[in-house]
Amino acid sequence: MSVTLLGVPYDAASSYRRGPASAPARIREALCSDATNGWTELLVDTRAPGVMRDAGDVAIDEQGDVVRQIDEAATRVVGADTRPIFLGGDHSISYPLVRAVRRRFPRLTIVHFDAHPDLYDELDGNRHSHACPFARIMEAGLADRLVQMGIRTMNAHQRAQAERFGVEVSPMRDWVDGRAWRFEGPCYVTVDLDVLDPAFAPGVSHHEPGGLSVRQLLTVIQNMDADIVAADVVEYNPALDPGGITSWVAAKIVRELAGRMVER
Ligand code: MN
Ligand code: MN
Repeated sequence: MSVTLLGVPYDAASSYRRGPASAPARIREALCSDATNGWTELLVDTRAPGVMRDAGDVAIDEQGDVVRQIDEAATRVVGADTRPIFLGGDHSISYPLVRAVRRRFPRLTIVHFDAHPDLYDELDGNRHSHACPFARIMEAGLADRLVQMGIRTMNAHQRAQAERFGVEVSPMRDWVDGRAWRFEGPCYVTVDLDVLDPAFAPGVSHHEPGGLSVRQLLTVIQNMDADIVAADVVEYNPALDPGGITSWVAAKIVRELAGRMVER
């Protein structure tokens, strides 16, 4: 089993600040840097031949049907012998990405790390805002189960949406280290980097204090009992990242996810 990287340089659905469109290149740079090696902490060599491939970036025409463009590009990297890691981009990309993955996996659980539930029906009149992807995903029946971790910006509307869609929300205030997460069947893992405390990952558009440490997130990724068939790492904003520190965080998460995905 191999992992295929696909960059999705799109940030026009961001509600506050743009920037994540330039993230895929920065994450790749950190991932391939000679400053570190390619081994995961669980001892998978992600730089061994054939383990991690790179399919480049999706060519996006913002004037066209972006959802369709991303879906089509993602479909090409969801193969029998390879599993995709998508490099965002803002979180709106998860709707077309999940849609593409779901066609191959008729059962799918989504494990969603984020400060925000991203369940708005619309935001500023945009139903494809980065605040809305999980409303679109659940409406379309693309996930059998949606589990959200690290949430700390819930409001009344999104609470109602979570109830309507049967979302399992694990709020940050109830976080317990060492919880044994277990997910049946194929899993799609989506990591919005703002799930991390801004102290660890300043390079995001929406700074929400009180989040996970990098270590806590890695520990869940390493220990969750799950067959991760696809993943995305989104919302890295290089324009707000002094010294590029968050690019190293993003690359580390990508590497550990890749190690979990090729072990099966
Ligand atoms: Mn998000
Ligand atoms: Mn977020």
